[in-house]
Amino acid sequence: MRVFKFGGASVKSSEAVKNVAVVLRGQSKEPLLVVISAMGKITNKLEALVDAYFYDKPTKKDIYKEVKDFHNQIVSNLIDNEYDYYQVDNLLVELECIIEKKRDVTASYDEEYDRIVPFGELLSTKIVSTYLNKIGYVNRWIDARNFVITTNKHRAAKVLWDESVPLIQNSLKPLVKRQTIITQGFIGRSLQHKNTTLGREGSDYSAAIFAFALDAESVTIWKDVAGVMNGDPKRFDDAVLIPKLSFNEAIELAYYGASIIHPKTIQPLKSKHIPLYVKSFLNPKAEGTEVLENENLTLNETECYIVKENQSVITIATEDFSFIVEDNLEIIFNAFNTVGIQLNLMQNSAISFMACFNQDDKKAEKLGELLGDNFTVKIANGHTLMTIFNYSENSSKLDSIVDENKVVLEQKSNRALQLVFK
Ligand code: ASP
Ligand code: MG
Repeated sequence: MRVFKFGGASVKSSEAVKNVAVVLRGQSKEPLLVVISAMGKITNKLEALVDAYFYDKPTKKDIYKEVKDFHNQIVSNLIDNEYDYYQVDNLLVELECIIEKKRDVTASYDEEYDRIVPFGELLSTKIVSTYLNKIGYVNRWIDARNFVITTNKHRAAKVLWDESVPLIQNSLKPLVKRQTIITQGFIGRSLQHKNTTLGREGSDYSAAIFAFALDAESVTIWKDVAGVMNGDPKRFDDAVLIPKLSFNEAIELAYYGASIIHPKTIQPLKSKHIPLYVKSFLNPKAEGTEVLENENLTLNETECYIVKENQSVITIATEDFSFIVEDNLEIIFNAFNTVGIQLNLMQNSAISFMACFNQDDKKAEKLGELLGDNFTVKIANGHTLMTIFNYSENSSKLDSIVDENKVVLEQKSNRALQLVFK
């Protein structure tokens, strides 16, 4: 049994949904488990809706209407039967009921987020499943919340494997043997019976969770690019496809911020030796990338470019110019940990500590407050972090992209060169 995952871009319009059907029909008759994300950029819209709902902003109704119109537009091109149409409409009505009711003031922002944002995945899967059944591609819609059981850490829920795996094995596996299953990525349920989500872009991870529990033969992630490339093709027009990659290399690339595969996805697959394919839904017959367990397999000489924008650079110095040593570092790391900032790169010199992280003004302000008593803290926004993985000394990209005068941080390890510049 194989697991497929289709992301937002693969279902962003009625034409895109029709293409998913083409991809699925091009496969062998053997049933699949298909995990699907919210359509297009709907998760961002739903995040805006949560914000408007939580803070009771006047934009609430308009945002809801945008979500509704977007889905209805797609539905009108795919579904003609009234009964099917109401299946989708019921979800929209349910969402409307939630946002129109007075808010339960005891519920946290993150809890409300998890109540509202999963509608993106519920709607997309309902629409795709219904359309596929209509055109004769028989499948069954399943609610992932019955199988992916998580902690109640809303918006960043952790999978409870001991609860989820038996449910998937005992109740879902027999169903997948009979017919293709369509289900949601990204969402789960806590032991308190509340919706949870696994973190943005979490649908790849969902596919890996199902694959792990089902002992799937493989996972295929369908993308709008040819596979894993050595750089974002939208940024580097000479980007090339990486045909084979080991799990370790994939983890390393993800660590440096390559967004092609959600980092948590690899672990469950690696532990069960389940190969991962990344393929193009626009060219489904093409090979794409194969990520597999193989210690020896390397990227060889292929340089990979990973660019992260909107980086904040923090410079922390002691007020008396004494050295930054262990006790200072302990305070500094504790502060980062307390406010929940992850460091993308750090460097310690005699009298200052520098690091860069994804810009987040609220967290940065809290950090400044925590460190302000002991240190002089400066934070500068608008930087870019570029990582060249497998770099060579005469890398052609260096000169063309980075102006040496603007580099504020630089670090080399045996395989990666990282530069932060303005
Ligand atoms: N729809 C969710 C998001 O956009 C999950 C995903 O796409 O993987 O973050
Ligand atoms: Mg998405």
